[in-house]
Amino acid sequence: MILESARKMISKYTLCDCCLGRQYGGLARGVTNRERGRAVKLVLAMEGHMESKKVGADGTGTANDTVNANDDGNVDGSGNGNGNEKADGERLLRALATKGGFQPAANVLGGACGGSGACYLCGGELDRVREYAEGAAKALEGYGFGNFLVGVRVAGEVAEREDALKTEFAIEFGESLKMEASREIGKEVSKILQKDVEFERPDVVVTVELPGPGFEVRSMPLFISGRYRKLVRGIPQSKWDCVHCGGKGCEVCHGTGKIYPISVEEIITCPVIAATGGAGAKFHGAGREDVDAIMRGNGRPFVVEVKEAKVRAVDLQALEEAVNASGGGKVEVVGLKYSDKKRVRSLKEKAKVAEKVYRALVELGCAVPEEALRKLEKSFKGGVINQLTPNRVLHRRADKLRLKKVHEMTARAVGDRMIELVVRCQGGLYVKELISGDEGRTKPCVADVIGCSARCVELDVIAVNEGA
Ligand SMILES: [Zn+2]
Ligand SMILES: [Zn+2]
Repeated sequence: MILESARKMISKYTLCDCCLGRQYGGLARGVTNRERGRAVKLVLAMEGHMESKKVGADGTGTANDTVNANDDGNVDGSGNGNGNEKADGERLLRALATKGGFQPAANVLGGACGGSGACYLCGGELDRVREYAEGAAKALEGYGFGNFLVGVRVAGEVAEREDALKTEFAIEFGESLKMEASREIGKEVSKILQKDVEFERPDVVVTVELPGPGFEVRSMPLFISGRYRKLVRGIPQSKWDCVHCGGKGCEVCHGTGKIYPISVEEIITCPVIAATGGAGAKFHGAGREDVDAIMRGNGRPFVVEVKEAKVRAVDLQALEEAVNASGGGKVEVVGLKYSDKKRVRSLKEKAKVAEKVYRALVELGCAVPEEALRKLEKSFKGGVINQLTPNRVLHRRADKLRLKKVHEMTARAVGDRMIELVVRCQGGLYVKELISGDEGRTKPCVADVIGCSARCVELDVIAVNEGA
């Protein structure tokens, strides 16, 4: 079957060893398509040679006469007599010598091979794998990476030719030019750079145009995770564009384009971008605290996603110090480490089930006796809170009801009408509203239980405990 289809193919089309061998690329392991192609050509040359030795049926015709008379280039191998078989054999040898560029066949005919132009499928490009690899390696200069992947973009008409050929010859176990070229160029690049090809999660991908030259390098995002603490109030987690100018800069924002001069995001991502030579960075936090809330204790988990990082082997200890210097005592990070995209997803999911511990300073509308505080602690222990989206965030969040659990609440008087609460609760509960009641949108609330108005004047996140 292999020899039958290969014989037809090489008789009709000029094919290099790789392109012929690739049509059987799914068969036999541990060999290259070039080797497959050569092996098939060799067996065909031997077949052709054997057939050409046959004497004509009438015992008269010479080989040359017969070949010239029937040389229409379509050898179907179904010789119906010894005379035809001899002619077919010679035709096959000639096809191998010219279209196949196969010297052993040319030797039988006593001439040089070649003469039918470039390979019908690859146009001879697969003989230039080394050049492509050198180009790809050069394109990767300036990028820091541990591993890489070579992708190949095959010109449309080349891919179409190959598809048509596969259909014409009912090729079942072939490989694509794209696959072969990526693999073979990848192997060469690996030799040049002494780095490994990585299929699953490469640091960089270099896309090679075929035919070329054309090289495009894409650095995969680099992920660095850690936890941050925010030690002062008045800093938002993410940069807020000025509402008046949309970030362009105007009189209201003094040309900064921002509502707040600095954010946790900027404090952390700027040194990260500087250290990695990235084109930009995205900040992913496990939830967020209010602008006026402090985030202390074990810190809030985050991941920074760096785009187009040039340097991937960063000294994380030095980076941590750089971030903390940039934070100037207002924001600090701990435990920086390399991370991945999966972590970003789990960060978002775990943020919803994470347990948070808050410390709130609450101003009351009346003085309350000690037993009211004990009652407060008791009534909220293990309680479920019905909370509609707070009025203050309604302009940017959908109005919906959320049920959140308060695991524990402790209360102590710290002044005449001041109490301090420590609330351990499910992530996503708005604690300021748990205290005030938010005009009936949060039930039950601290104000109702105590029996007078209650307002959170200071809020600190003192722990974020991620779910397993
Ligand atoms: Zn080829
Ligand atoms: Zn503005």
